[in-house]
Amino acid sequence: MTQPMETRKIIPPALEQVHLGEKILCYRPMKHGMPNLSIEKKDGKVIAHNYGHGGSGWTLGPGSAKYVNSLLIDSPLGKELSNTSTPIAIIGAGLVGLFTAYDLTKRGYSNITIYAEKLDGLASHYAGGLLAPVSMDNDHAMQPIIDQIGIDAYRFYDDVARNKNSDFKQGARRVPSYFNSREDSGLEAYVGKVMNPAKEVILDFGNGTTRKMVAYDDGIYMNTALLMAELHEFIQSHHIKIILGKIHAFDELEQGFIFNCSGLGAVELVKDKTLVPVQGHLIMLKNQVPENMNYMILVYFGEGKTEANQKIERSFYIFPKHFLESAPQDIGVIGGTFIEGGSPDTPNLNEYDLIIDEARQFFGIK
Ligand SMILES: Cc1cc2nc3c(=O)[nH]c(=O)nc-3n(C[C@H](O)[C@H](O)[C@H](O)COP(=O)(O)OP(=O)(O)OC[C@H]3O[C@@H](n4cnc5c(N)ncnc54)[C@H](O)[C@@H]3O)c2cc1C
Repeated sequence: MTQPMETRKIIPPALEQVHLGEKILCYRPMKHGMPNLSIEKKDGKVIAHNYGHGGSGWTLGPGSAKYVNSLLIDSPLGKELSNTSTPIAIIGAGLVGLFTAYDLTKRGYSNITIYAEKLDGLASHYAGGLLAPVSMDNDHAMQPIIDQIGIDAYRFYDDVARNKNSDFKQGARRVPSYFNSREDSGLEAYVGKVMNPAKEVILDFGNGTTRKMVAYDDGIYMNTALLMAELHEFIQSHHIKIILGKIHAFDELEQGFIFNCSGLGAVELVKDKTLVPVQGHLIMLKNQVPENMNYMILVYFGEGKTEANQKIERSFYIFPKHFLESAPQDIGVIGGTFIEGGSPDTPNLNEYDLIIDEARQFFGIK
């Protein structure tokens, strides 16, 4: 006899005007093909590139730092790094630069300097926080590397969620993640390795609207603002220097080993034409009931055009995002735009209203 499908009650967020908070525009650094995770020798310096993670920087970050750091340390180009006091420069203080510094410090390196144009208000702070390898454009042949990096990163966050990593206390937790299909989640490669199989469930919003969805109960929510703060605390307590300012060329730096974690800055720094900004719109929620905000949903709607006539992939998502300085009830974010080539000159502000309409429709809110 087949089991009836499990029904789960979810209380929708309050979406009236008074419950809508800050509107945020930010940009994913997306490299077509796959992120640049490579090493090269250039002008007498050894450069390790680690940029272009699209909408999955947090999902991949700890794994991608470990991957690129090992690539360099284990290669003939990294021979001098057998001395752990070798001077090392990292360009960028987003999550990729900070996880690079974290991983190198854990391996015993003690002479690290981070150079960064900006420390606050980065894509790394604003990102939603869903662990899922989505919103990238990877070549099929490269997918196994991305999968392995994601699986490593999942292990890292799962340790944080289970209080097994004393450097990170609260930055990640297990939260059920819902998608329309297993394929949409990008998580199937993780199943059997670090995650349990997804199951089909019915979400009941208590207002007559139900939706059949696929649930990963061991999904992970990454509190991105808190993780950034925890990474900075680690860096400060390990006396890693941070120097503010823009680097225009690698030979400005005195160090022989440079990790290029400059995100979208790599468009200018290494003239990478396959790296593009992908605009995203987010609306923070406020005056919610925090206990109700214990799920993550991502659904895709397909392609369209924006008011600036740019191609857009529309989706709807909701995550329990929370900023450090916000009141506990100011929790939750809705969003879901993916506009390749979008820039501050074309903010596509109508998308905010569409996100709110899509959220109301999804939850069956009249
Ligand atoms: C709307 C939105 C939602 C997202 N949601 C998620 C999500 O739910 N899950 C997920 O996994 N990912 C998500 N992401 C993706 C994630 O935010 C990015 O992949 C990630 O932030 C990229 O990190 P980064 O360190 O490469 O870049 P950034 O955070 O942009 O940091 C780049 C750093 O490099 C510095 N820099 C750049 N150029 C130079 C230079 N020339 N000299 C000196 N310093 C320089 C900058 O000042 C900065 O410090 C989202 C992104 C957006 C925009």
